[in-house]
Amino acid sequence: MVKETIRVYARVKPLGRRQQAGSYSVDDEEDLLSSLEITVPRDLADGFVNNKRETYKFKFQKIFDQEAKQDVIFDSIAKPVAECVLAGYNGTIFAYGQTGSGKTFTITGGAERYSDRGIIPRTLSYIFDQLQKDSSKVYTTHVSYLEIYNECGYDLLDPRHEASRLEDLPKVTIMEDSDQNIHLKNLSLQQATNEEEALNLLFLGDTNRMIAETPMNQASSRSHCIFTVHVSSKEPGSATIRRSKLHLVDLAGSERVAKTGVGGHLLTEAKYINLSLHYLEQVIIALAEKNRSHIPYRNSMMTSVLRDSLGGNCMTAMIATLSIDKRNIDESISTCRFAQRVALIKNEAVLNEEIDPRLMIVQLKKEIQDLKDELELVTGKQRTSELSQEELLQLDELIEMFLKDSDPDSTLDVGADMRKIKYCFIHMKQLMNHPTTSDKKLLSQNISEEEDTNKESGEELEKLKDLLQQRDNEINILVNMLKKEKKKAQDALFQLNASSACSTVLEQSLSINLEDRQSPSSCFSLKGAKDFSSSVHRLPFLSRQTGGKMSLGCQEAFEVFKRDHADSITIEDNKQLLKQRFAEVKCLGVKLNEVRSKINCLKGEITQRHIQRAALAVSSPSEELNMFDPVEEKLRMQIEEEKKSYKTMFNRFKGLKVEIEHLQLLMEKVKMKMQKDFEVWWSEEAKNLQEKPEMVTSPNTVTVYPQFIKSLQHLSTNSFSEITRVSPNEDPAGKNNSITVSNPTLKTRTPQSSSTSIPLTGDSQADADILAFMKARQRILQRKGLENK
Ligand code: ADP
Ligand code: MG
Repeated sequence: MVKETIRVYARVKPLGRRQQAGSYSVDDEEDLLSSLEITVPRDLADGFVNNKRETYKFKFQKIFDQEAKQDVIFDSIAKPVAECVLAGYNGTIFAYGQTGSGKTFTITGGAERYSDRGIIPRTLSYIFDQLQKDSSKVYTTHVSYLEIYNECGYDLLDPRHEASRLEDLPKVTIMEDSDQNIHLKNLSLQQATNEEEALNLLFLGDTNRMIAETPMNQASSRSHCIFTVHVSSKEPGSATIRRSKLHLVDLAGSERVAKTGVGGHLLTEAKYINLSLHYLEQVIIALAEKNRSHIPYRNSMMTSVLRDSLGGNCMTAMIATLSIDKRNIDESISTCRFAQRVALIKNEAVLNEEIDPRLMIVQLKKEIQDLKDELELVTGKQRTSELSQEELLQLDELIEMFLKDSDPDSTLDVGADMRKIKYCFIHMKQLMNHPTTSDKKLLSQNISEEEDTNKESGEELEKLKDLLQQRDNEINILVNMLKKEKKKAQDALFQLNASSACSTVLEQSLSINLEDRQSPSSCFSLKGAKDFSSSVHRLPFLSRQTGGKMSLGCQEAFEVFKRDHADSITIEDNKQLLKQRFAEVKCLGVKLNEVRSKINCLKGEITQRHIQRAALAVSSPSEELNMFDPVEEKLRMQIEEEKKSYKTMFNRFKGLKVEIEHLQLLMEKVKMKMQKDFEVWWSEEAKNLQEKPEMVTSPNTVTVYPQFIKSLQHLSTNSFSEITRVSPNEDPAGKNNSITVSNPTLKTRTPQSSSTSIPLTGDSQADADILAFMKARQRILQRKGLENK
């Protein structure tokens, strides 16, 4: 058992370009706790924070200032926890802080650069690397990904759902067994046999998370996401299994609302926006208090799920993420305060070892068989568990003879066979309790005879009574023994049932529905990921509306939108990087092949050399065949050298492969985000058009999604020196861009599907964008016109 307080770290997010830094300082002492000092300016101290104080000092295990990189965060915080998990302990890492302070960046990572990978992908990489190195055990790994929003749990890893809303995902509910263990019903546990499969699952979950989020519910800042890696390990042939879980938790934004109106409020009076964080704080306060017997875990789903991670069987680390610009000083202070309370909590992590009842039964059965064999060898007789009919009759006879025998020294000898001894006792007991008339006679006759002969001898009677008592005791002991054996057998049976029931509950509740899918490896290989991505590429929202097909106009608009989207630069960058990496991999592949053939060549030369020397030995036997051959030695050394360079290149090759896969996933993600943004923008556009069909396109009246502003900015900033009009007769579909000059200040009103005034900017690129956009719009109008007719 390892008793430890929760390790609490702080990470300060780099300031944005327009942000002003709040005043803070980091005091980093080697081997000691680091401290963070925040100074509140007087003007700020007035409203929200207790205005009596100006500086606040907080202690942390370690503080990572603005420039800390993701690999350092992983090495210092996540790696030790991952090591514990591999050793069979439970682990949890959770990020806590206000929205925008870098929780998701820290836990999952940024979407732009490979080096921005967060704790989850790095941990997966580390875990699978370690598992591969350890061949002494058989490991199995599963992952699950749960999102909790408004007290409802959703399974983010259900591949059958193409969710466009959170509510479309399978609902996860909490169940508690009689030992108060928490089980999550409906949360799928997906097996991942290697890093690639696990990363694909993470990507699937993140995509579902992103798609399910709408601007309305702001799910990402209001929900908690728990990515869990389940590791089980077993030594071959052993009945002991170690199971451990690693929760990687991205909590909801911890921002609070202050009570307004009265100045000088204490910070603690401010209330969380998110109720479940309020319950988390209550749990933490309760845990930090001594002598508290009741900890209110059950108040919320999140505290129930994280029950073990807080004050239980777990190695836990918390990362307080701080956005330290001036406006967020108060939130940063409350994050730090929360962290200080968390740092007081002691956890007791124990090794999660259990005996697999099925394996235990197999072992016991084998032991029984061995003993039976041994017995057979000693007695020379075969033993079955039941006595044969013949043996039973023999025993009945022996018992009768024994009872009839008046000789007090007579014995009942059935041999060294427990089955027979037991039978005799049971039979005699039955005779005592329910004697048949003949038996009764037998017994009474015996007794009367004895009474006759020993009437005077009270002592003899006492002796007999003692004997009877003794037998009674013996019978009782044997019956107890029997009962115990029976109970053991029942227990074993129960355990077997329980384990099979448990596994069925697990299978059902965690809905590992294998029939519905192929094996995860085939499903989530890189190829699988691409299949999946092509299916989500279908723009779920639009395709639902248009019955599966995207109109040409919509596609065109999407092309324009894509070009102007802020993320297009990221895509381009990543594309370039991917190209580079592909080229590198290709080059490495060629080199690897070269080295391999070189090694083969060298080997061939050695063989050749052997043959030559053997021939030499035959022709001139005086030559010593085993003599040291410097040429061969040199060849061998060359082979070693080549092997070394092969190994280095191969490792680089492997690393590049992982990086390429990651980059591909990142790009898919950005693309998906762009599509989602487009859908939102497009549907709003369509809605606006429906509401105001008679309005003319004026760039200032179009509802524009932020990403689209760029191209439209030209419109508002450029003077409309040349406003053009497409004549409806000439070009109803907008195919021909013949244009006529008109009054620049004119705001024309035109009927549906007729001419549209198009302001051009003079910038050929922007003009092309506008025309494409207008065309798309016009098509909508036309389609609407047709529908109305
Ligand atoms: P949260 O999940 O707490 O709401 P995010 O992780 O989404 O916050 O971070 C908000 C923004 O800040 C994102 O664009 C993210 O990329 C960026 N960011 C956060 N932390 C860092 C960091 N340490 N370095 C660089 N960018 C960061
Ligand atoms: Mg976030």
